[in-house]
Amino acid sequence: MTSGDHKRELNSARPADERALLLRWMAETLRSEYGEKDLLARREPLHELISTILSQRTTHADEEAAYKELRDLGDWDDIIAAPTEQVAHAIRRSNYPESKAPRIQETLRRLRDSPSGYDLEFLRELPLKDALKWLTDLPGVGIKTASLVLLFNFSRPVFPVDTHVFRINTRVGTIPKMGEQAAHRALLALLPPSPPFLYDLHVNLLVHGRRVCHWTRPLCGECVLRERCDAYALYGDHVPSFGAK
Ligand code: SF4
Repeated sequence: MTSGDHKRELNSARPADERALLLRWMAETLRSEYGEKDLLARREPLHELISTILSQRTTHADEEAAYKELRDLGDWDDIIAAPTEQVAHAIRRSNYPESKAPRIQETLRRLRDSPSGYDLEFLRELPLKDALKWLTDLPGVGIKTASLVLLFNFSRPVFPVDTHVFRINTRVGTIPKMGEQAAHRALLALLPPSPPFLYDLHVNLLVHGRRVCHWTRPLCGECVLRERCDAYALYGDHVPSFGAK
């Protein structure tokens, strides 16, 4: 197919209720393709929080390596007390270690000095809005990191929008053109407040982004979403690199 072969109204211009149905179809289609993903906390909350800070602009392998070397410095108190250059060196496999090191130390310091210490369990019961605010007030913690911790560790109904989730939703047109931050709110407003559903969709979008809907030269010919994808309707088999158009 070539660009312009599909003459249909773009999803991104459709009303919210239609885009909400499109998201449900997307979740079901990806589930059939990749299987259902069960919501199980993969690591303890503080580990998830620090790892997610390390994962920003970093591959999974480098994030894991940085986390391991960070923990080799000792317990959380030891990491706070270590010279910041030493912490930066330990996490050098993560991108921007010089800015992440003081943020991680400050985050740990604030936790240590808070009434619950390093235990984040109180986030399970805190009203969702307050839990998001509490987390995003920490240095280096944005809406994506906060959402990951709340969904993955505490089964709270939020939807983390990482680079794969953002790219696929923008291309398919479940949301109009907007930034990654704004997409958190926009997508959440269209999705059912069901943590297992949100988790399953999040993880399957990650899988789809890694395997098929690549940043550049997406494999549209193999894509189970292509019949309803705006980018495919516009460009056929020549979808441009994400952000290029
Ligand atoms: S059709 Fe292409 S651009 Fe659209 S979601 Fe699939 S791989 Fe991505």
